[in-house]
Amino acid sequence: MNCDDIKLMISEYIDNELTKEKEAFLFTHLSSCTDCREEYKIQNSIQHEVKINLKDVGERFEQRVFDSIQKKELPLIKRWITKPTPAYINYVLGFAIIMITLFSFLQFSSLRGDLKGFQEKYEAAFEKIQFQTQQINLMMNSMPAVQIIGNPVKM
Ligand SMILES: [Zn+2]
Repeated sequence: MNCDDIKLMISEYIDNELTKEKEAFLFTHLSSCTDCREEYKIQNSIQHEVKINLKDVGERFEQRVFDSIQKKELPLIKRWITKPTPAYINYVLGFAIIMITLFSFLQFSSLRGDLKGFQEKYEAAFEKIQFQTQQINLMMNSMPAVQIIGNPVKM
């Protein structure tokens, strides 16, 4: 076996195509031949680079898939945010308006009740004043003062 055969074996070994017997033979040769050892190092590092690149390509592909998913999902979220007033907001607003209307109606009713009470009190007071005025008039008319005052004039 010469070094060219060994170089072929190295590439076979790296591709996992070498039998265990040949593997032992290869490493025996590599331990004694620096040229083949260098060749092994080069081929091994090339294989390593290829593996890294493949992994990198795989990762980049995953990233690309992930990015495209994100790009598809983002407009969905945007559409959801900028959606012109969803139906449930209209329901909530409608309910709020109904509640405010009901509340203000109740407030207005109680205010009207207060006003009515005030009006009744005012009317009662007015009636009382009227009654008192009548009483005073009656007292004045029944009073003989006019005659008393009139008498000295006549006299
Ligand atoms: Zn060699």
